[in-house]
This record gives sequence, C-alpha cells and structure tokens, in this order.
Amino acid sequence: MQLVFATNNLHKLKEVQSMLPQHIQLLSLKDIGCFEDVPETRLTIEGNAIQKADYIKTHYGYDCFADDTGLEVETLNGEPGVYSARYAGEQRDAHNNMDKLLENLSDKSNRNAQFKTVIALHLNGSLETFTGICKGEITKTKHGRGGFGYDPIFKAEGYDQTFAEIALEEKNRIGHRGKAVAQLVTFLNHL
Ligand code: IMP
Repeated sequence: MQLVFATNNLHKLKEVQSMLPQHIQLLSLKDIGCFEDVPETRLTIEGNAIQKADYIKTHYGYDCFADDTGLEVETLNGEPGVYSARYAGEQRDAHNNMDKLLENLSDKSNRNAQFKTVIALHLNGSLETFTGICKGEITKTKHGRGGFGYDPIFKAEGYDQTFAEIALEEKNRIGHRGKAVAQLVTFLNHL
C-alpha cells in the first residue's frame, strides 16, 4: 500500500517510514508531482494539518497524511502556536524566532510551554487526526547545537537539558511528533 506524506522534508519522511509496517510505502509531495506551496492558512495547528491533507486529497486524489506543529507558551496565551515558523517574520529564521520569544518572556516567571503536533490522515473515505503533546518550559538562554527550530530553548518536563542537548532518539521517544506518529502507526497497524 502506498500513502502520501504531505511533506518534502526528507528527515521527516525517513523518520516516519522507519516506524511504519513494511507494507506501507510513503510517497513525498515530489513523488506525486506536487511542486506548489500547499496552503496552510488556518488559525489553528489542527486546522492547518487538516487543510494540507484535504488539499492533497482534493487536488491529487491520493489518500495521504499531513502534519503541523507549534510551540504554545502558557503566559502568552498559546503564542507562537500556529505562527511558530514565522514568529519573527516571513524569513522563518529559527534564531530570530527564539530571540523574539526570549524577549517576550524576559519579565515572566511562568515559563511553561508545550509542543503540539497534529497529524491529519485521509484514508478510505474518512478523516482521522492524531495529536502529540510534549510539556516543558522555556529556558532563559539557548543551550545546545542539536535539533532545529526552538529546540535550544525548550526543556521537556523532568529534563535538565534542552531538546538541542539530548539525543535525537530520546527526543523522538518523548517528543510531540514522535507521540503523534506512534498513534498514526498504531492506527495503520490495526487496519
Ligand atoms: P512544522 O509544522 O513541522 O513545519 O513546524 C512549524 C515550526 O515549529 C517550525 O518552523 C519550527 O520553528 C517549530 N518546530 C516544529 N517542530 C519542532 C521541534 O521538534 N523542535 C523545535 N521546533 C519545532
């Protein structure tokens, strides 16, 4: 069985493919001839994941799944949330995004935050969603060189090190995306 993952991020494709049963082969957007920007204009993480999966199903006819992730900071009413990638501007620069967040939290004692990933799956005529959450807090400064995005300023609950300092396998095991993918895999394994 072939299933489209609405991404061209090879790292994500490889990671998810390695967790899937062997009879499911993932195709990327490039594999189905989709070279356009898939719209993600909704106001929630769930909305964006569903919008991307709907777009591929409607325009290309394939069963597929799409993911969307955001960092939600409690004292900022869930910001940057759905705007995580472009928090500091359209250039989507991770360091500028982190600097802006650290600045906005500079006078706050509550630094609770969570990463949230939603995966939306179109399969056999129905739509399913899977949500993975990882709770933690925003550090005062950046630590570590691993990972990407906000990893250098996010410490998961119970950890002394940021996501940029822990091993990738550990991040995948306790992280938001890994948890959402694990639910997707369980669902596909029970078909
Ligand atoms: P996307 O929906 O996976 O493209 O993620 C949106 C934005 O959230 C990214 O541009 C990153 O800034 C941030 N992000 C997503 N996943 C992670 C993560 O695992 N660690 C740190 N930042 C992340």
